Amino acid sequence: MSCKEGFERRLKGMPVSPGIAMGVLRVEARGCSSPIVRTILPTEMESEWARFESALARTEEELSSLKARVEHLSGANEAAIFDAHLLFLRDKTILNKLRKEFPKRMQNIDSVYYAVVQNFMEVMRHVDDPYLRSRVVDIGDVLQRVLKNMAPAQNAPLCGDCTEPCVLAAYDLTPSDTADLDPRKVAGFVTEAGSAVSHTAILARSLGMPAVVAVPNLVIDSRVGCQAILDGYNGYLILNPTAETLQHYRELQAEKERAYTALIDMKDLPAETTDGRRIRLAANVEFAHEYTAIQRSGAEGVGLFRTEFFLLGDGSLPDEEAQYEHYRKLVESCSPEEVIFRTLDSGGDKLPFEVLEEKEDNPFLGWRGIRVSLSRVEIFKEQLRAILRASAHGKVGVMFPMVSGITEVKDVQALLEDCRAELRERGQAYDENMRVGIMIEVPSAAMMADVLARHVDFFSIGTNDLTQYTIAVDRVNFRVASMFRPTHPGVVRLMRQTISAGIPTAVCGEMGGDINLVPLLVGLGVSELSVGAHLLPVVRYAIRHLNYEECRAMAEEALQAEDSYTIRGLSVDMAHRCYPELFN
Ligand code: PEP
Ligand code: MG
Repeated sequence: MSCKEGFERRLKGMPVSPGIAMGVLRVEARGCSSPIVRTILPTEMESEWARFESALARTEEELSSLKARVEHLSGANEAAIFDAHLLFLRDKTILNKLRKEFPKRMQNIDSVYYAVVQNFMEVMRHVDDPYLRSRVVDIGDVLQRVLKNMAPAQNAPLCGDCTEPCVLAAYDLTPSDTADLDPRKVAGFVTEAGSAVSHTAILARSLGMPAVVAVPNLVIDSRVGCQAILDGYNGYLILNPTAETLQHYRELQAEKERAYTALIDMKDLPAETTDGRRIRLAANVEFAHEYTAIQRSGAEGVGLFRTEFFLLGDGSLPDEEAQYEHYRKLVESCSPEEVIFRTLDSGGDKLPFEVLEEKEDNPFLGWRGIRVSLSRVEIFKEQLRAILRASAHGKVGVMFPMVSGITEVKDVQALLEDCRAELRERGQAYDENMRVGIMIEVPSAAMMADVLARHVDFFSIGTNDLTQYTIAVDRVNFRVASMFRPTHPGVVRLMRQTISAGIPTAVCGEMGGDINLVPLLVGLGVSELSVGAHLLPVVRYAIRHLNYEECRAMAEEALQAEDSYTIRGLSVDMAHRCYPELFN
């Protein structure tokens, strides 16, 4: 049943960013947005058709040269796929349908082509022949190329042309697509791919934008232009909602807002358990626009400033001076609380520092995090000096991503020492006592925590990567998303081993903001949780309703458990017993 037919329809996925979004649905198929629909004048018909013809010709050229290249590199068999693409490009059924539909609809040609091909894809998905069914992906590829060649505005932000907030449905979004979304134009987004700990999901939470991922067949099942509700609490995309559904969601939205405001009102209460264990509760920050939310949510400073979004966001790396100015302002606005800057963590699924000539086969195991910084020393030192100089204006900490062992720690310490000497020479101030820490997100670092603890002031456990690297499960691959379990005994034991090293240890991965798992983290003995600013009020409330000794006993039991479900169950039970009202 399609959206056009007007029946309410629910698609289920995984909620990754809370909130309710309502608006018209906009569909983005594998990197090509559904074109905006515009009525055209009869006088425009000829030029529109010419635009389409020239896009077909350009696409044909591209496909032929791709075919020649693949044939040269891998042989004729591999290149044959492009024959299928070329055939589809000139497919008579599609072109005839387009010729009929175009004068009937009198809309811009790209939108009519998009609609015709989408319908064709839908039909193909239901044919019995599995080979033909599997060709849907290729058709999508060709569609994408033709649309791109009709409107080559490649770098424009998604939905930049929307006049009111829409619900964006896409096969997938990259972190940079997400960072570019304008909340005035996109009320929420839903994707077919994705996972809860991808940077796309993390950014959605920092933008405060409701998001749902991993909705099977989303692109095929959605229709551009229908009314939609995105339920970021329960993971639903509702197409063509009925009046009752709309009313239900309006009430739910109002109720959630009321509950959140009540929690925000407690922002000045300490994050302390009922038996007096104090946990530092800080904010994770990606964007400058979040700085006001830090204060509003009562954060005790910033526990993780992901500097890569500021450094690589607009394509030109800010120099030392620009970085210093930016960092200084944040430090001053958070004073007297501490701001912990994490140095550039590019690579993996994040913005690349440099566009590499050859794509990495395993980007998460490749040129990422501290490895990039240590191979671009001059640029790294600019960032270190900027952070050191900011430390003269308030309390500052620095930490390094993706550290795997002591050699990297010694290398960064030596560079830090050089930077201090350079600043002394320049006569520029910095705090001699600035805390230096590392992220624990690679299993080898967790196993060596006792040794590493002798060289740094604090640890911050990045549970997103620690889980990914410990269980060998790609954090952004939705096919293995069900295996991504931070409560895997292997992960929990590594966390315990890290904390046992005896220096202050925070958790700044997404696990820290999951109120189901806060009892386990408190029980394991973390001294700090750093979470997305919007989660702070709810995590504070959770901590204030826990008893540390009970959490400790539960964590000991968890450490003896054999599987992730048992560990999760122990923590969830305690959470539901201590603050059932948060789960309503
Ligand atoms: C983590 O890995 O848990 C973490 C906090 O870092 P990021 O999500 O930026 O990789
Ligand atoms: Mg990480």
